[in-house]
Amino acid sequence: MISFTTVNDLSAYIREIKPTKTIGFVPTMGALHLGHISLIEESKKHCDISICSIFVNPTQFNNASDLENYPRLIENDMKLLLENGCDVLFHPSVEQMYPNGLQKNEEDYGQVLKVFEGLHRPGHFDGVLTVVARLFDIVKPHKSFFGQKDYQQCIVVAELIKRKFPEIELHVCPILRENSGLAMSSRNLRLNDIEKSDALLINQALQYIKSGFGQKDLALLIEEAKQIINESKLLSIEYLDVANAINLEPIKNSNTKAIVLAAVHCGPVRLIDNILLN
Ligand code: AMP
Repeated sequence: MISFTTVNDLSAYIREIKPTKTIGFVPTMGALHLGHISLIEESKKHCDISICSIFVNPTQFNNASDLENYPRLIENDMKLLLENGCDVLFHPSVEQMYPNGLQKNEEDYGQVLKVFEGLHRPGHFDGVLTVVARLFDIVKPHKSFFGQKDYQQCIVVAELIKRKFPEIELHVCPILRENSGLAMSSRNLRLNDIEKSDALLINQALQYIKSGFGQKDLALLIEEAKQIINESKLLSIEYLDVANAINLEPIKNSNTKAIVLAAVHCGPVRLIDNILLN
């Protein structure tokens, strides 16, 4: 695996390979787990060269302590990438990514930035849009691989690609879960055993909605799902709701392609999860 930390060095490499190789790109914030590795595997299936970036992007954190406590495990990550056949790692500094200071996207991306994560983490997607655009500009991939785990992020990135990078193909990959059903996340590293066990209720609540969707009254179903989570004193729901899976607007009926999305605080950590319903 070749490792780059500067934009100049990576750009020189990209200029050399791009004419003859297809480039697959997996952007991450590190503390890698099998969910991230599944994206690399997907990239390897579809592309000649797979590039993973590890960059904890300051502009997408709306909470200073979350940024500070975000796990950083670069030695471990490099080992995992090497073992799993990643070709290139890009691990830049903040200065390399933001040479002109920490500014973020100011373009209007419409309603999708104002609901769910956009509503609860003000400015988060403007940070995501900025860093993904910068990374796309540097890496110039043919295909990019993102996880359904961050479902709303996939919608936002699809819009970014449509507006500014129509040459890049977007692949949305399924959520990898622990055997227990807990969605894999770098933030799970911060959970103790009791928190981790109570966090299972999140997926159970989402599964409960999936099993009753289209059969039971939706408002009642959502209420009952919230009760499942509220059984634990360690969990506190930020949102749990069903939406149109294309645009995240409220659904009109159970024929609409729908998704249930949740953000739940578990002890010190904020977890998100989702399931497509039909
Ligand atoms: P992150 O490092 O959290 O920014 O995630 C980097 C990429 O990995 C994003 O596209 C995530 O959606 C994806 N990802 C994170 N967790 C999982 C998971 N459990 N299964 C599949 N993809 C994931």
